[in-house]
Amino acid sequence: MLPEDFLTRMKLQLGEEYGAFLKSLERPRAVALRFNPRKGPRPELPFVLGPVPWEPEGFYYAPDSRPGLHVYHECGVYYLQEASAMGPVALLSPQPGERVLDLCAAPGGKSTQIAGRMGGQGLLVCNEVNPKRAKILSRNIERMAVSNALVTNETPGNLAARLPGFFHRVLVDAPCSGEGMFRKEEAAVTDWSPETVTMCARRQGEILEEAAKLVRPGGRLVYSTCTFAPEEDEGAVEAFLKGHPEFKPEIVEAPWFQPGPNGSFRMWPHALLGEGHFAAVLRKDGGETGTAAPGRGEPLPKLWQEFSKALDIRLPEGKAVCFGQSLFWAPEELPELAGLRVLRPGLELGELKKGRFEPAHALALWLDGCAVTQSWDPESREMGAYLHGEAVPSQQRGWCLVKAGPYSAGWGKGDGNLLKNHYPKGLRR
Ligand code: SAM
Repeated sequence: MLPEDFLTRMKLQLGEEYGAFLKSLERPRAVALRFNPRKGPRPELPFVLGPVPWEPEGFYYAPDSRPGLHVYHECGVYYLQEASAMGPVALLSPQPGERVLDLCAAPGGKSTQIAGRMGGQGLLVCNEVNPKRAKILSRNIERMAVSNALVTNETPGNLAARLPGFFHRVLVDAPCSGEGMFRKEEAAVTDWSPETVTMCARRQGEILEEAAKLVRPGGRLVYSTCTFAPEEDEGAVEAFLKGHPEFKPEIVEAPWFQPGPNGSFRMWPHALLGEGHFAAVLRKDGGETGTAAPGRGEPLPKLWQEFSKALDIRLPEGKAVCFGQSLFWAPEELPELAGLRVLRPGLELGELKKGRFEPAHALALWLDGCAVTQSWDPESREMGAYLHGEAVPSQQRGWCLVKAGPYSAGWGKGDGNLLKNHYPKGLRR
């Protein structure tokens, strides 16, 4: 049952479209996934249906197929993401080589979509204020083999204080009253009240204040929500523009969505195959490059050099960053990290243990191959045993990249007879 106050407002808001809107809420929702371009050409999968028009890697899938359970999901071949939720990044249009911030990023649907579009070039900062959700975000960044992301657990205010004018593009996918998710999540309905809408609008205003500082002159700010409440959507944008004459609505082509005032768009469940969303595209005046001095890298340790030589692993441009025992490979543009709560400063290469190097799961997922690999059919008994955490017969020796078909799945270490299992304990089936 939808709240009476909500229905009354929607009737006023939608006029003659109200009937179509109500009908759409009774229909089963369309489900979608987004392929990971880092994994090469898209596989042919029986459950994949037609394309999501606004995202080249987005496709609907058969409702009862449960692709989240497929081994390819664990290999980061795709991310399950609601189709309308792919809209804001289409409007953000991040480019390879830029500095991009996803300010409210967990669980990482939009961050991993941005990463796909950046193709590993430039710097993506994925931030989430809630510590538990930041961990989930970090795991998804790992699963989707993103090499150029800095994952932080910060307040928007602290980020703005440390990286003012740093980003070419900033996405604020704000916490909202979630009206657009009523069909997807029962909790969205039970948590809703007119007071929630007012509270969310105030919080969105506060987040946007900080976001404004993070955009460099000439940069793009996209504000999005998954709610229908005008107070949190067009209203929030109007209030922001009033207080920020340095921002203007930006005209972008998005024929799939319904255009509104101030560079905004509505995604209505009765007008497209997806849930309810809102997004507005704004541009900061000026064209100067705002910069922060990038932090310095460290020399790559000898243990890594030996390991990478033995397996013939080559890294893209970047710099080494050590976090305790852990070694990361970060984009050149990585800023100074002092004063920031960091979960992941780039691609995790592995751990430097006493006299030896232990490669990270993130590195396995990022690699598409290396000198020592063991590939099993995704449906095979061996693959099942590997994902279960068992040692599996194999003739490989030393560190070995395990693949499910063409996709890397994790590490093993062989003695010529048996491959010792290094699939992360927390992921085992
Ligand atoms: N962009 C994400 C995605 O596509 O997977 C979804 C983000 S969700 C709509 C909004 C996020 O904002 C939540 O993860 C929530 O924890 C976070 N959040 C809540 N309060 C916040 C605040 N005051 N400042 C910044 N982020 C906040």
